[in-house]
Parts: sequence; C-alpha cells; structure tokens
Amino acid sequence: MSFYKQIAVIVLFFTIQILFFIPNYNNLFIVTLKGLASGGLVVILISYAFPSVFKGLKNKNNIDANRISQKEKDFKSIDNKYKNLLKQVQDGISSANDNYTIGIYIIDQVSGDYVLKSSSDSLFVTPVNVQNNLLSKITSENKSKIYNKNEYNDNSWHELIDKKNWKGSESLLGFPIQYENNVIGALILYIDHFSKINSQDQPIVESLVNIFNQGIIDIEESEQKLLIHANSNKITDLFRDFNPESDLDTFLNSIKTICRSIFKYDKLTIALTSEDKEKLKVIMTDGFDEDINDELSFNAKNSILGLSFINNQLIHHADWRKQFPMMIRFDNDRNDYEEFSTILSSPLRSEGKSIGNISFERININAFSAQEIELIAMLCENISKILGWIDIHNQLNRSASRDGLTGLLNHKTFISRFEKEINRSRRFDHHLGLIFFDIDKFKSVNDTYGHLYGDYVLEEVSRIISKNVRSIDILGRYGGEEFSLLLVNTDINDCIPLAEKIVEKIAKKTYLKDGIAVNLTISAGMSGFPIHSDNVEVLIAKADKAMYRTKISGGNGVSIAE
Ligand code: GH3
Ligand code: MG
Ligand code: MG
Repeated sequence: MSFYKQIAVIVLFFTIQILFFIPNYNNLFIVTLKGLASGGLVVILISYAFPSVFKGLKNKNNIDANRISQKEKDFKSIDNKYKNLLKQVQDGISSANDNYTIGIYIIDQVSGDYVLKSSSDSLFVTPVNVQNNLLSKITSENKSKIYNKNEYNDNSWHELIDKKNWKGSESLLGFPIQYENNVIGALILYIDHFSKINSQDQPIVESLVNIFNQGIIDIEESEQKLLIHANSNKITDLFRDFNPESDLDTFLNSIKTICRSIFKYDKLTIALTSEDKEKLKVIMTDGFDEDINDELSFNAKNSILGLSFINNQLIHHADWRKQFPMMIRFDNDRNDYEEFSTILSSPLRSEGKSIGNISFERININAFSAQEIELIAMLCENISKILGWIDIHNQLNRSASRDGLTGLLNHKTFISRFEKEINRSRRFDHHLGLIFFDIDKFKSVNDTYGHLYGDYVLEEVSRIISKNVRSIDILGRYGGEEFSLLLVNTDINDCIPLAEKIVEKIAKKTYLKDGIAVNLTISAGMSGFPIHSDNVEVLIAKADKAMYRTKISGGNGVSIAE
C-alpha cells in the first residue's frame, strides 16, 4: 500500500472515531463528515473485494502513458548510454592517475560553442567560445599533447578553467575527440603541477579516448535507428492522411515534400509505364531540372533509370557507369548528363508487377545510407498502394462522369468543366470557343434502321469529333444526338476552320454496319468567350441558336452567334 493510501486510511479511522464520540449533532459539518466517512468506507471495501476495478483503471492509464513516452524513453536511453560512456572514461582515467581533473567538451551543433558534457569537478567553465586559443590548439592536433600554463600569455586558460590563484606550474593533457574523421570536441585532463603527470598516462588515456570515440559511433547508430523510425512514421502519415478525392498532382507534391525531408539527392524522378510497355513516362521530378522533366517518355531498356523497373527490384550503385559501361542514363538521343554517378532506384508495383519506379540520383560518387535504402523500399510500397487507389477512384469517377455509349463527358460533367474553364480563362485572360453539333435528321436513321444502328452512328460521329480535337479540349455528349465541344485558349475565329473540318468529315464518311450504308450530315453553331458572353448558360444558348440557323439553312454547315 502506498504512503498516501496509508494516510487516507488513518484519516478515515479518526473521522469515524470523532463521529462515534460526538453527540448526535446534525449540523452541516457533521453531515459532511459522515458523507466523507461512508464514501471512504465504500472505496476501501470495493478496493479489497474487487481489486480488478482499480487495477483496470490503473493499467489503462499506464498503457496510454507508455505509448506516449516510448519515444522519449528511446531518446533517454541514448542519453543514458552517452552518460555511461563518459563515466566509464572518467573512471578509467581516475584509476590510472587520480591527480587529474577531467573535462569533456563537445562542440554544440546549434550555438557552435564548446559545451562541457562531463566533468569530475566544477573547475571547468561552460560554455567556452569556439575561438578559445587553447581548445583550438587541442582540436587542431591529431594526437594528444601536453599543454603548460606558463607557455600562454593570453586569456585562454582563464576562459577554460575557473581558478583564482595561478602558479604557472599548471598543465593539462588535451585529446581531440573525433567522429567520422571530424573533430567534434576535446577531452581535457587538468593537473595543478606538471610533475604529477606520469609517463604512462598518455597512452592509457589515448586508448580510453579511442574507446570513447567508438562509443559515440555506436550511439550515433542508435540515433540513426530512431531517425529511421521517425521518418518511416512520416511516410505512413502521408498515406494515412491521403485523400482519394485529391488529384494526382497534390499527391505527387506531398511525396516531393517527404522525399526532400528524408533523402539527400540531386535528382528525383518518378516514372510510370506507358501504353508502350518498354517505355517509362516521367510523372514527377525534383532537383536538377535541365535534363528529365515531367511528361518525358524514355526507353527503359538499357537505361539505368529504367533498370529497377525492368528487373522489378531495387538497385543501388555508387558508381554505376563503371559497373555498367554499356548503359546510358535514360535516352540515347538526349543530353545524357555524364556527371550523375550514384543511383538508388526502386520499382513501383501493382499486384507484384513492376509498373514504374522512383529514382534518386547524386551527381558525385556518394553511396546512399542504409537508412535511405530501407526507406525507399517502404516509400515505394506505400506509393504503389495509393496509385492503385487513385486508379480505382478514377475508374469509378470515369463511370460517373462519362457517357456510357460514346465515352465522352456527360452533360453534367461538361457543364462543370465549362464553368471551371471560364473561371480559369478569366484569370489568365484567355479566349474560349464553344461549338455545338446536332446530327441532321437523325430520327429518320433510328426509324429506318433501328436504335442499334442509331447507336452505332452516334459512336462513329463521336469518334470523328474526338480524333480532330486536342487532348486539352473538352468534348461532351450534350444530349441525344448533340455534342458540345469547348476549345481551350482559342479565339473564336480560330475555331471556324476546325468546326468546318469536322462537319465536312462527318458528311464524307459512309456509315456501314450489317451491310447497311448510310450517309448523314451534322449542323454546327458557335459562340465565344468573352466576345459573346462570360456566362456559361448564355454561351450555350447562343451556340444552340446559331446551330439552329445552320439547320434552317439546310444543315451541314457552321454558324457563328450574333
Ligand atoms: P434535326 O435535323 O432537326 O436535328 O432532326 P433530328 O431527327 O436529328 O432531331 P430530333 O430531336 O427530332 O430527334 C433526335 C433523335 O435522336 C430522337 C431520339 O430517338 C434519338 N436519340 C436520342 N438518343 C439516342 C440514343 O442514345 N440512341 C439512339 N439510337 N437514338 C437516340
Ligand atoms: Mg437534337
Ligand atoms: Mg438532330
């Protein structure tokens, strides 16, 4: 039982005693006391009779707290490891010669000063400016050295050691602390008289410093593992927060942000297979932007940027040109920037099959870290999943926005796209051309040859119109035998030849099915933004009216709104 519980039981005991001996007053104080006493008794009885009730509550709290503090614990354990390491070094030095006062300074990444990380005495000053002459001398040496006070006339000893009466006989042994060949601090052994330094001290301390340096590497590795953990969380967060309603561009941008925070690269390229299975189509790039850009297609075969896609496995080469002298970077006839030497590339998959890849490149020969290799595989796995979702979503969307017979945008989608385009054109000061088509005397085709034949004609006519427009233009089946075409960023005068061409092609075609040949014509009417109006409904009404003028004059032609 905890101390507080014991106190609570004692208080309860005395409360009940008081209630026993005080005559039967019923004032507010006594009633409150009675209430508290009986409440306390109930709690004690339940806690003994049904201990699981309180245990359950306690455990739940513990689990939540554990979850929250897991990360902090990880970092604490690293901090503890570091402190233990420092203590071991200190103990080792003291056992060799206990006349030393030990101080370990590490350069602080943020302030740039030397910060005392450990000390056997309060003698050392912290922080010490990075310009300090004595520390600069120690850290510029490769080996340990003895430094004597009387050799220094400047303030550097006073900046480092907090002492009032200097004798001049003070000495110190200074050792640079290194990590990955970089000096990151200094270990200092201060002694008040040089004669107390033993000749064997230096090699002993040197080997201890080496142990210390190795220990730092181990700690760094632990930190790396934690970093991998934190970065992998970033990746899973991206996918958890992914909204299938958002478009591919938004998704690709969030991938870019994540890649920038995790990987170090000069170029990032994400590519997917195109209809031609040997080709990869670039869908996103980042970094160096003079070679591969979005929308570029290149041959995957014999190109290092296609290798992970072709082999359906991760590749990592620090100097791939040496290993694959026959290979090119991405395309024969393009400027193949020679400098890119290092590549880390992983396939994107759909149901296990390679459908594209993500590649990180570095200009210099500089291998990617174990962390980056681990994370690219994870990134690809998650991106593949999302691309699958986007695909399913697009298919669903497609069936909701397209006309079942012709595959063109349905009426509703056409109108909403039209509205978006009008807004965009207003912003960029662009022109728009709207063409309305209506098949002439179509009813008679249906009446003569049946609805199935009529359907076939509708499909053919829609195919002819689609073939003659750009991919950025917006084409819809406005109604039964009516088609609407919006030409983006086009002046109405430039629409006339196109409208005439389509009308002509439809008239020239002989529709042939089940041995039945039919010729027919179509009427077109046009209106333009902003000359005729800046309103969708008005533009449609004006184009429709113009189309009727064509009909009245015999069909098979084009009219422009007034
Ligand atoms: P006009 O020259 O004045 O345009 O005459 P029209 O016969 O083309 O026009 P009308 O509006 O009188 O008839 C259109 C016909 O289109 C009526 C309808 O049965 C037919 N239609 C509408 N949708 C479909 C479809 O999906 N399939 C088939 N086969 N016919 C359709
Ligand atoms: Mg009609
Ligand atoms: Mg018609």
